[in-house]
Amino acid sequence: MADVVLRNVRKTYPGGFEAIKGVDFAVGDGQFCVLVGPSGCGKSTLLRMVAGLETITAGEIEIGGRVVNDVEPADRDIAMVFQNYALYPHMTVYNNMAYGLRNRGMAKAEIDARVQEAARILELGPMLIRKPRQLSGGQRQRVAMGRAIVRHPKVFLFDEPLSNLDAKLRVAMRVEIRKLQRRLATTAIYVTHDQLEAMTLADVLVVMNGGQVEQIGSPLDVYAKPATTFVASFIGAPPMNLLTLAHDLRSQLSGAPPEAGILGVRPEDLVIGPGTAAQGGLALDITVEAIERVGPETFVYGVRAGHEARPVVAGKPGEGAGGDVIVRIPGQAAPPVGERITVVAPPHGLHLFSADGRRRIA
Ligand code: ATP
Repeated sequence: MADVVLRNVRKTYPGGFEAIKGVDFAVGDGQFCVLVGPSGCGKSTLLRMVAGLETITAGEIEIGGRVVNDVEPADRDIAMVFQNYALYPHMTVYNNMAYGLRNRGMAKAEIDARVQEAARILELGPMLIRKPRQLSGGQRQRVAMGRAIVRHPKVFLFDEPLSNLDAKLRVAMRVEIRKLQRRLATTAIYVTHDQLEAMTLADVLVVMNGGQVEQIGSPLDVYAKPATTFVASFIGAPPMNLLTLAHDLRSQLSGAPPEAGILGVRPEDLVIGPGTAAQGGLALDITVEAIERVGPETFVYGVRAGHEARPVVAGKPGEGAGGDVIVRIPGQAAPPVGERITVVAPPHGLHLFSADGRRRIA
């Protein structure tokens, strides 16, 4: 068993900056956990603490039932895959994979068996005699994974392993990593700032912001019920529309509790509608400001009639940019810029948050 458990983990860097402010979560044996959040939220710091590359200021990290706070990185039974691959340029692919095992004094036959097995899993057989410069970016990334696989670790740690690849290869490698992890059934913690990567890879999604966990859950739960306006705007693209619950909106939502201060509605839950919403739903009058056609779907950017209001982003009303309301519609037909339209959302498409955005109400 290789659960990873973090208990009230904190990190203050020399100089006093508090990068991790008390983080708790658990990753079950064989689960794929993704840490996602904006740049600087502390995800790499947290991963490096699990790896033992960064000291822990307070709290406890447990791997496979053993507290590892004071265990050397090499003795933690983890293998880490970095974004820059860190392959040895002068060594063949075979030797890149074998190097760490030789250093540990493993028998030659065992090393060979492990390298051949990894090469087979990763389809790198014909590449074993090549040097890294003779490989494509995707192949290099697979060698980096091979180096992790041969160690038979209890836990894989991935630090943005795909961020140096082009968009198409990223998608292909994303699928490969997931298949590989399922097959090996090894616990994994994966860091990314890409919410799509996070959604598609994770069994457990940990959304971080400012050194703290905003929400933990399955990707679909987090998408369906974001706990804060930060999560609501970070998970999902285009982001959820967040509107201050002023008098005109409140009068439509008679059931909204008084403590609800922000109304959220996902662009995909709005349809260009008949003039009125269903019972308990929402209707917004908007003037079309811009249209973006991306092929299978179209984004309509509008401003609410009679409103100067800026959208609410990350729990900070008034800090958004661009249109007031975004609507995501299938296909390519869209109303012309300048037209006044009504968009409606059903009751189940509405999210209510406290005025500071820190709490989900319904
Ligand atoms: P990114 O996606 O940009 O890599 P991240 O979420 O991984 O961001 P971290 O690298 O963990 O973020 O950094 C978290 C915070 O800690 C940042 O504000 C960063 O400036 C700060 N930080 C990181 N390393 C150090 C250090 N050695 N000393 C002081 N502050 C640091």
